[in-house]
Amino acid sequence: ATQRARPSMHSSSSTVDSDVRDTIINLDHGDPTMYERFWQQAGDKSTIVIPGWQSMSYFSDAGSLCWFLEPEFAKEIIRLHKIVGNAVTKDRYIVVGTGSTQLYQAVLYALSPQDAVEPVSVVSAAPYYSSYPLITDCLKSGLYKWAGDARSFSKEGPFIELVTSPNNPDGDVRQSVVNKSGGILVHDLAYYWPQYTPIVSAADHDIMLFTVSKSTGHAGMRIGWALVKDEEVAKKMVKFVELNTIGVSKDSQLRAAKVLQAVINSCQYPTSLGSLFDFSAHLMEERWRLLRAAVRQSGLFSLPEFSPGSCSFLNRSFATQPAFAWLKCLELMKDCEGFLRSNNILTRSGKHFGVSPQYVRISMLDRDENFHIFVERLSTIHLRHSIQV
Ligand code: PMP
Repeated sequence: ATQRARPSMHSSSSTVDSDVRDTIINLDHGDPTMYERFWQQAGDKSTIVIPGWQSMSYFSDAGSLCWFLEPEFAKEIIRLHKIVGNAVTKDRYIVVGTGSTQLYQAVLYALSPQDAVEPVSVVSAAPYYSSYPLITDCLKSGLYKWAGDARSFSKEGPFIELVTSPNNPDGDVRQSVVNKSGGILVHDLAYYWPQYTPIVSAADHDIMLFTVSKSTGHAGMRIGWALVKDEEVAKKMVKFVELNTIGVSKDSQLRAAKVLQAVINSCQYPTSLGSLFDFSAHLMEERWRLLRAAVRQSGLFSLPEFSPGSCSFLNRSFATQPAFAWLKCLELMKDCEGFLRSNNILTRSGKHFGVSPQYVRISMLDRDENFHIFVERLSTIHLRHSIQV
């Protein structure tokens, strides 16, 4: 994520300073590279070796509803939810996906009536995760259609409401907002883990989506899972994954099983960095403290405030410390993303999330080096620059 804007030809110390100033810090994507440090110290505890003859068949568990789900991975998912206490797994079907991104599409397919005269509306309260509208409408499906902000949704007929909690981009802990019947809720709980927000109860919704991308930091493994109450919905989701990719990489599922096992072990037998959740919760706390100090110093921005809650997993009270900073610029700066870009900080404009470009979303999950350059630069940005934009 780090690129040099202008390669340095000299090696004097002032060149080193300007080199740091010119470094482009890309915090547009939520790439969870901050977790690398934990997994580096975990060493072989999270390593697997797969011989060439293994995992060759399409099938993982031919007789079960989700026939491409590796039983070992399913077992670790249940153990992890039990130990963290963030979701009910009892009487649920587990459907594995190539990231929760594939499961989102599987859910839309599963919940849309096949014989409807018009596509079912898909809504989420703004600011909503920027990928939802893009994924929903990319194939111009006849089954479902993006219908925007759930708060202003008033159309008659069936709808699907996405409830992301804590929310991407603003970290808000959410419940459904559409106040009428005929809707089906999908809970995207990618960030309902103790490093981001207090675990106050085990989520007990009909359809819940999770991903390793934001829980363990293994975004490149492309593994997500859905906990689904209704058998028919789970079957249709399995059908979608079957039609779409004929299952999900076994190599990735076996690696995910090993990683979840290492997370569980880190909770039971913490090392010098503590459990994965101790490590990442402390890092998030420290980063939010540094970011709030930089924002105060700059005087140009504001951040959302969160009230504390008691976390049953970490046994202490703290406020949500989201994976993204939802930064609001002063009124006179109309284009916050452009302003930050002129300072070599790449972020995502509020317009992608259904709100004003006065907001930007900034990833809090980058490597230490980039994060520190970012907060340092933010704290010294002067208004002089902003008025030029
Ligand atoms: N849902 C939300 C709310 C997310 O923020 C993300 C990742 N940015 C995803 C889903 C997608 O996760 P995955 O990498 O598992 O596809």
